[in-house]
Amino acid sequence: MKHYKLFIDGKWVDALSGKTFESLNPATGEVNAVVAEAGREDVDLAVKAARKAFESGPWADMAPGDRGRLLYKVAQALWDKADMLAEVETRDNGLPINETKFIAMPAMIDVLEFYAGLANKVQGSTLASPNNRFNYTLKEPVGVVGAIVPWNFPLMLTMWKLAPALATGNTIVIKPAEQTPVSILEMVKIFQKVGIPDGVINVVPGFGRTAGDALSSHQDVDKITFTGSTNTGRLIMQAASKNLKPVSLELGGKSPNIVFDDANIENAVNGSMFGIFFAQGQVCASGTRLFVQEGIYDKFMDSFVKKAQSIRVGNPLDQTTQMGPQVSLQQLEKIQQYVSLGIEEGANLVIGGERNKDAGNGYFFTPTVFEDVTNEMTIAREEIFGPVLSVIRFKDEEDALRKANDTLYGLASGLWTNDLKRAHRMTRGLKAGTVYVNTFSMLDSAAPFGGRKQSGFGRELGIQAMDMYTETKNVWIDLSEEGL
Ligand code: NAD
Repeated sequence: MKHYKLFIDGKWVDALSGKTFESLNPATGEVNAVVAEAGREDVDLAVKAARKAFESGPWADMAPGDRGRLLYKVAQALWDKADMLAEVETRDNGLPINETKFIAMPAMIDVLEFYAGLANKVQGSTLASPNNRFNYTLKEPVGVVGAIVPWNFPLMLTMWKLAPALATGNTIVIKPAEQTPVSILEMVKIFQKVGIPDGVINVVPGFGRTAGDALSSHQDVDKITFTGSTNTGRLIMQAASKNLKPVSLELGGKSPNIVFDDANIENAVNGSMFGIFFAQGQVCASGTRLFVQEGIYDKFMDSFVKKAQSIRVGNPLDQTTQMGPQVSLQQLEKIQQYVSLGIEEGANLVIGGERNKDAGNGYFFTPTVFEDVTNEMTIAREEIFGPVLSVIRFKDEEDALRKANDTLYGLASGLWTNDLKRAHRMTRGLKAGTVYVNTFSMLDSAAPFGGRKQSGFGRELGIQAMDMYTETKNVWIDLSEEGL
């Protein structure tokens, strides 16, 4: 049994209250680790440490190029430990090892390398001015960043915040999800070993209502960056409003995935499978509403259902496993409730819909497909965050676009067609932060990611994210001898 402490000011410390909590392995339901539980007073110490490191000391004095080189060194050290981190993350949240090893870890380290390269490319601008005046802008770090992250991709989603925050010279306090603190704590050990100065990164595992709230309402935090559910996003915005802190929110989704009659059916089936069942459906961008055009409906669904039935659900540490357990019993029960609602409201449960006890004692669920769903049903409106697909027929482009946009969310969307003009028309019409054409759930460190409507605001990744971690300062200098 491993024990983990809080990481504050470069030291591993117990919570001031002495409290700990258990982190479970979702594949077995057994305790994976015992972790110190940060309370408000620990969060306060972490913020103080981050403030001190921001205002003075080796981090504040470091040249941007040196900061970038240091982050590259960390990235190299992370590559060396990538297999270990993948295994730790799989035990933490149940993602199949093939997904942590070959998707999440490389993507996570790539993000750090991307921002390491941008560390010395932060630029202000010189403004047009008369001869007797000099007017320019400086891009400065915002200061102390508070990052609150979810459990579905703990390392990758933490890195989306950590890498641009550090590259631009900020310091940070990270609040991991209570379900998955371990991989983040292991990763931070690597940052520390490479030589990130004390207080630059602080990690306060704990619960949302205590540690999370303390961080988002803290007066001395300069910016809050959050990834998680829409409801929690609302609470965080309220808490941050007490001290009027800027907030960026990456929230939930109910993404449409639209398959037109003219699509390559095999590609669309495979891509849509990935779109819904990747990571057990615990992906904010999941294509949970699958719209299939009438002309190919039967052929498409025949192939889709056969493939979905053949998904291997089981031990996530087994290389051949395609779907691991849901992250927690609570999440599993939430999914079961949505399945019951789907049946009650008249959707047709074609496959799945139940806990998979054959796969093990953990929180395994069977890939689930509902047909005859209407866009008004609860399973088509609310985020389930599990392997549950709602399939909806549509007639034509106009019908598809109207239904696709008829949602409170606006994170991602997908479409499958070989008609170039249609692809562009639909791309313009879809109200979402990302549109995938003839593919789904793609990510790249250079590609900005984020939502509209109740999926949040702000863009992570890409050069755009540098703006979220910098403030623009305008400087006026009078060059005349006379003055005003
Ligand atoms: P959650 O909102 O329950 O928890 C996320 C984090 O917020 C956790 O660290 C939690 O402890 C903390 N938290 C909870 N209550 C809080 C409060 N009152 N104050 C401050 N912090 C609080 O979300 P989850 O269940 O961990 O994650 C799943 C959700 O995350 C889904 O809705 C999913 O769509 C979303 N998500 C979005 C993106 C994106 O980029 N848009 C990516 C991944 C996940």
